[in-house]
Amino acid sequence: MPEAPPTAADLARAVRARETTPQALLEAARARAEAVRDLNALISLNERAGEGAERVRARLEAGETLPLAGVPVVVKDNINVTGTRTTCGSRLLANYVSPYDATVVERLTAAGAVIVAKANMDEFAMGSSNESSAAGPALNPWDRARVPGGSSGGSAVAVAATITPVSLGSDTGGSVRQPAAFTGVYGLKPTYGRVSRYGLVAFASSLDQIGPFARTAEDLALMMNVIAGHDPRDATSLGAPPAFRAGTPDDLRGLRVGVVRESLNGNTPGVEAMLEETLAALRGAGASVTEVSVPTVRHAIAAYYLIATPEASSNLARYDGMVYGERVPAPDVVTSMTRAREQGFGPEVKRRILLGTYALSSGYYDAYYSKAMKVRRLIAGDFARALADVDLLVTPTSPFPAFRRGEKTNDPLAMYAADVDTVAINLAGLPALSVPAGFETVDGVRLPVGIQFIAPALKDELLITLAGGLEGVGAVRAEVAPGYALTSNAVGG
Ligand code: GLN
Repeated sequence: MPEAPPTAADLARAVRARETTPQALLEAARARAEAVRDLNALISLNERAGEGAERVRARLEAGETLPLAGVPVVVKDNINVTGTRTTCGSRLLANYVSPYDATVVERLTAAGAVIVAKANMDEFAMGSSNESSAAGPALNPWDRARVPGGSSGGSAVAVAATITPVSLGSDTGGSVRQPAAFTGVYGLKPTYGRVSRYGLVAFASSLDQIGPFARTAEDLALMMNVIAGHDPRDATSLGAPPAFRAGTPDDLRGLRVGVVRESLNGNTPGVEAMLEETLAALRGAGASVTEVSVPTVRHAIAAYYLIATPEASSNLARYDGMVYGERVPAPDVVTSMTRAREQGFGPEVKRRILLGTYALSSGYYDAYYSKAMKVRRLIAGDFARALADVDLLVTPTSPFPAFRRGEKTNDPLAMYAADVDTVAINLAGLPALSVPAGFETVDGVRLPVGIQFIAPALKDELLITLAGGLEGVGAVRAEVAPGYALTSNAVGG
């Protein structure tokens, strides 16, 4: 069996012990990015990463102890990094260079991380397959004919194919959890407000949250300890973040887990089997498992698309080729703006702007947007009730493993339906984690299966404690896809 690739914790330890340097790790990450270029995980490299590595070296020299010393990190291309392009996977922003760092980037850098690259994504984070990216689709390392999930597909692939041990994505309706499930790694969507959104390009502001991908619970904890916390520049950000740590099997004893009954239908046999195995492992470790009902989740997709698209139509109004995007020469300003949007946005983004504008328009507002907001309230209430009796809820992350590229591209509703297990969590503002629970063999190919755990609001730390416990009993493990296992010792390249 190939050796396990180094984790962020391993790399930071090695850097602090002077066994390697931030420069060597940056070189190794860049070489790895080049070696797995076929997966199209990245949109651009951070040309200034060398300066970042040098600053980390100098700070270590000065005696600082940095939790992420020299750890290379990839961030989704909708998160701003000074001096790099933020394209959001869109033609419209192909040449937009950010003049500032997102708060998460500031915090990562302060902790010693080096941002090596920007990850591929569905255009403006709208999608579940990474196929709507202007940079072309990212591919799933387990089967390159399949999607890695979306919209944070590139961030998931970067970790799954070991370009970096950890990465950041954004999750508006499942965009961290579903690609984590499809590529066999962890993906966490924190409580709304837990992580600052300052410097994250807005899709649907009341739903968007930045979250980490990782291959171990320890690395998830490391990332959350760095990125969580209040930010005066994000009015919705929360204070007093908990201390995150990977738990042990002891933490599973006495845990009350509720399986969401509504998520039990329509899953593939492999997804059903992995859910059963995970539940068996929990019982074996002394947790109790009961079935609970969250009846209104069946309305979640409808409500989500009537809330996310109106917010998107407002947020995306700024892309007019004047301040953002290329100015298109035209006889008058309205024509210029129209052409910039016509040429810059892809079909999915246009569909969502149309849908969202329609749902907000006078005469339809009450029937659509305002009704969806009422449904959102009911869903949040249902979850709160369900979580009053148990510590955590569990569902599959997706009813099926990674689907084939092109399989759902001509059927937007089928693509939207892929989010059936994830969107309700964003509507309720809750934290949820997809864990790599095992595999389903489809047409002779092993494909990862993710199981989703949902915690009460503000209890994000429970999810990472749980993940450590599940790792400890061997129920959960991130594996690297066969053709992408490391062959050399990557610590120090
Ligand atoms: N797949 C969902 C959508 O297309 C969620 C996207 C996301 O979380 N950014 O809206």
